[in-house]
Amino acid sequence: MPPPFLNLTPAQFSDAVKAYAWSTPKTEIHVHHTWRPNHSQYRGLPTIQGMYNYHTGTNHWSDIAQHVSIGPDGSIWTGRAWSRSPASASGFNGSHVFMFETIGDFDTSKDPLTRDQLDAVLHVVASLQRHFSLTDPDCVRFHNQMSGKTCPGSSIDRAAFLEQVAEKRAALEGPINDPGMPGSGTATMDEVMAAITHQGNEAIGDDGDAELSHDGALAAFMERVATNPFRSGATTEALGADAVTGVTMLTESAAGDDEQALFAELGRRAMMMEADAATAGQVGLGDAPIEEVFFSSFADLGRRIFERVEGQLYHVMCGTDGKDATDRAKLRDAFGLGTNAVTAAIVTVLTGSFGLAPAIAAVAAALLIRVVLKPAYGTTCEFWAERLPPA
Ligand SMILES: [Zn+2]
Repeated sequence: MPPPFLNLTPAQFSDAVKAYAWSTPKTEIHVHHTWRPNHSQYRGLPTIQGMYNYHTGTNHWSDIAQHVSIGPDGSIWTGRAWSRSPASASGFNGSHVFMFETIGDFDTSKDPLTRDQLDAVLHVVASLQRHFSLTDPDCVRFHNQMSGKTCPGSSIDRAAFLEQVAEKRAALEGPINDPGMPGSGTATMDEVMAAITHQGNEAIGDDGDAELSHDGALAAFMERVATNPFRSGATTEALGADAVTGVTMLTESAAGDDEQALFAELGRRAMMMEADAATAGQVGLGDAPIEEVFFSSFADLGRRIFERVEGQLYHVMCGTDGKDATDRAKLRDAFGLGTNAVTAAIVTVLTGSFGLAPAIAAVAAALLIRVVLKPAYGTTCEFWAERLPPA
């Protein structure tokens, strides 16, 4: 069950920070941007629910990663229980961390962090600093200090940000200026307290890294491919029948009729493996539908992965390199034996020679069949018809 996500005004946030029964004092405040969804993809509550679904359904985390999410309109949305450790930055999580996501892409020349949203961000940081008497500026940590990601965005200068936080903190000593944004702030303090103390699901792998859909994920993915344990003939043989079933399910599913959906599934699986390596062997369709809010970023990542796989396979199949001779023969022989044989041969080459995980190889094979081979059947028939005498 997703928790209720409540939209707090800055004053309600401050009140909740004061009234909350903190089990551990917070000594670090982690600052993130979501990257995706960006400003144009923000839809209010459904966006927060989409992130929850992704974090719990795809990443298998116990709850939404963040304690609060800050919308482009300055909404401060509740998230996971505040006393719990967030899924902020792998290796840097703990119950002493308060972590929030700023919805937007603040890399240079993308979304601007301004006005109500900036004000809400500064308010959240300053309120926490004040409540926990944090004076060391290093208590504010940008995700990019803990990972190779640009998060919270290459346009955000940390020194300038800390100055703005200090100004906000000074301002908080006076009465809080609470504009009472439309549609927000209607929850009672009891409801707010219930929302920020709820228990999550059973925790699985919560020492995660927020916002997996970053460009860096592609590099990480390619690096993993190079050392993939599935790069072994024995595993590949054992995988054969399951893989063909998996690819057939994918090509015959509704998603199989839609290239974009297969690209999105490919991207999502790459993300899922990053969060939970155990999913690498899964070839069939997952239960969880693709979260709409992440669909386009998954599809982008899937397309980029596919382009690499497709290029590699083309060289094996149509190139002349001697080291590919065995794989080339395997693929060419399979063409005379029907779709299942072609599928099995492609999956074998993708896992055994390219080192792709079965979960990725199955979708890549479904895409290859749909994008490259099915159109080629048509070309083959045209060519064939030209050879035949007129009926
Ligand atoms: Zn981040």
